[in-house]
Amino acid sequence: MTKEEHTDVAASFDDTDLEELTARLKRFLDIQDRKYGFPSKTYPKCFVGSEAVAQLVKEGIAIDEDDAVRIGNMMLNAGVFHHVLDEHPFKNEKLFYRFLSDEDHGTVARKPDGSAVSWADFIAPLSSAEDKIFTLQPEIPERDPNLASFEQVELEACGVSPLDEHNTKFLDLLHPKAWVDPTPEPSYNLVVIGAGAGGLVSAAGAAGVGARVALIESHLLGGDCLTVGCVPSKALLRCAKAAAAVRNAAEFGVNVSGEVSVDFGYVMERLRRLRASIAPVDSAQRYSEKLGVDVFIGKGRFTGKNTIEVNGQTLNFAKAVVATGGTAAVPNIPGLKQAPYLTNASVFNLTELPARMGVIGAGPIGLELAQAFQRLGSQVTVFSRSDKIMPKEDPEAAKIVENAMRRDGVTFAYNVNYKGVESRGGKAPVSVVFEDDKGERTLEFDALLVATGRKPTVNGLGLEDAGIEFDERLGVKVNDRMQTTNPDVYAVGDVASKYQFTHMSDFGARLVIRNALFFGRDKFSNFIIPWATYTEPEVAHVGLYEKDLEEQNIEFWTFTREFDDVDRGIVDGETEGFVKIHVKKGTDQILGATIVGSHAGDMISEITVAMQAGMGLGKLANVIHPYPTAAEAIRQCGDAYNRSRLTPTVKVIFNRLMAFKR
Ligand SMILES: Cc1cc2nc3c(=O)[nH]c(=O)nc-3n(C[C@H](O)[C@H](O)[C@H](O)COP(=O)(O)OP(=O)(O)OC[C@H]3O[C@@H](n4cnc5c(N)ncnc54)[C@H](O)[C@@H]3O)c2cc1C
Repeated sequence: MTKEEHTDVAASFDDTDLEELTARLKRFLDIQDRKYGFPSKTYPKCFVGSEAVAQLVKEGIAIDEDDAVRIGNMMLNAGVFHHVLDEHPFKNEKLFYRFLSDEDHGTVARKPDGSAVSWADFIAPLSSAEDKIFTLQPEIPERDPNLASFEQVELEACGVSPLDEHNTKFLDLLHPKAWVDPTPEPSYNLVVIGAGAGGLVSAAGAAGVGARVALIESHLLGGDCLTVGCVPSKALLRCAKAAAAVRNAAEFGVNVSGEVSVDFGYVMERLRRLRASIAPVDSAQRYSEKLGVDVFIGKGRFTGKNTIEVNGQTLNFAKAVVATGGTAAVPNIPGLKQAPYLTNASVFNLTELPARMGVIGAGPIGLELAQAFQRLGSQVTVFSRSDKIMPKEDPEAAKIVENAMRRDGVTFAYNVNYKGVESRGGKAPVSVVFEDDKGERTLEFDALLVATGRKPTVNGLGLEDAGIEFDERLGVKVNDRMQTTNPDVYAVGDVASKYQFTHMSDFGARLVIRNALFFGRDKFSNFIIPWATYTEPEVAHVGLYEKDLEEQNIEFWTFTREFDDVDRGIVDGETEGFVKIHVKKGTDQILGATIVGSHAGDMISEITVAMQAGMGLGKLANVIHPYPTAAEAIRQCGDAYNRSRLTPTVKVIFNRLMAFKR
């Protein structure tokens, strides 16, 4: 190598090369404490310039002494070493130099195992995904022990009315008149009974991966969610929200003169129009023509372990899915069955607003509809057998919803013991005779809505003939892989799960496709399940409740941010509500969360994502949220968590540090 080439190499050193060169130098140089002057002074950990030059040449790093001096100065300028008094550049002389890394400016303390002491040793550890040691699915209140004896509402008997253009279109899509069933294939990879969310997703998913699929529906494709559940109830709630906003507009300086009136006929027509506009995606035609599924409209019934009969035809299957859902259960209150009561199956057929409405049941369905009708102009009374509403939810959350509904004008009767329901039939008022905290009373209503729970649809399905165990109260018995006691048959959705939500029917179906068709081993207990009740304010939840944690003896910390401390809550005039997050004590692993607020149903997804990804609350504090948003409350819970991680020792050190900087 020529001198020029050598210099070029040295000049082109990058940081990595420099580190490597430094390490080499330190290996071959004689570094020791050296004395100089009179009286002599000791300079610790020094090497001598001339010795370094000789070694650089000897090791072949420098081509000659000049080159060694050049390399040495380059390293000195890069801050690798310096003259002990900073008086000289690098020279081929008996001058002392010291590596900066050997300077005694303090050093990282080491633990007995040799690893560096870290702040993390003083603060609570962050969680990792592996910390997930138990299911994060909460216990929800037991179904009524008498549910099996409750009458189950027949969807077909309630029908769809009025038969205006929207409902006609709706029926044409979801239960086409004179539908001609296909000729069954000799055998199917998958036969699905029930075309609600669970059945539709099972059928579409399986057909999408090339399976030969048959789908059987006795009433309306789309099931409860589209026809008598989520969709119409949310359409109604939207109108009710608009009515409430107008009534409460004065708070924002908006004056509406005269009385606010609601055109209930229009509200219901809008509901029917929107419902019909969503229906094409669930239609018989789409499933048969676009997705290639054999659609049978009729009642399906097992006739053997691998056979189902529909409309007199037998379908042979390798695998089957029971997705028959559930319908409203009518409690055994004397006189109720003879009275013209409503359930979710018939309430959306109304065309006239009842002036007075009684709602039996204080769960999500009853409360959503109670608030909707009250805001639309009815005078609503909610009956609860217990001393609260929303028995499943965080009691503080339920209280906030109760207060909001009271402000709307809803009245509540608690600890109710029903004596009977009296009616003269037709459009005559219905009276509920009951006893509560105020004694025995009778209240008269123009409509009575029964929302006391749902009964799984298990009867008349021939489940016994297929070796499928079931219970009239709890539904079809399934293992954690959603498999029934007939290994070729799976069950999804409301018929087999206590988590009765559309998204759980959907995700249950995805799991079943993997397990039934692709030898999957997915478990339902691994799902992290969020849900929401769409009252105003909304209540949303994911993971374990406080009471679950206490019952399971899991130690936890709770971080709460009230919306009256969140700027967006204040400027929107929505200060009632909170974000409450539970973490495993000593870590930031999120175990559960409840949000009460106007967008709680949307906000809960952020926490669900974090839980699913094993991301702890401490990390959520680092996620930038646009200002001002309600979701900032989640980040602020993260901040609160991080503040809590500062132990007294760390706080003292921080304080000293700050004092030093002043
Ligand atoms: C008023 C109300 C509001 C709701 N709001 C929400 C909400 O906002 N969010 C949410 O997630 N969930 C909500 N739900 C719950 C949601 O609607 C259900 O969890 C979901 O529809 C269940 O889907 P599924 O497929 O299990 O059953 P279903 O939707 O009940 O479908 C079952 C289907 O099977 C059919 N069937 C039954 N027996 C047979 C047979 N022998 N042969 C052929 N077909 C048969 C039925 O006709 C039905 O179409 C609400 C429910 C109600 C009542």
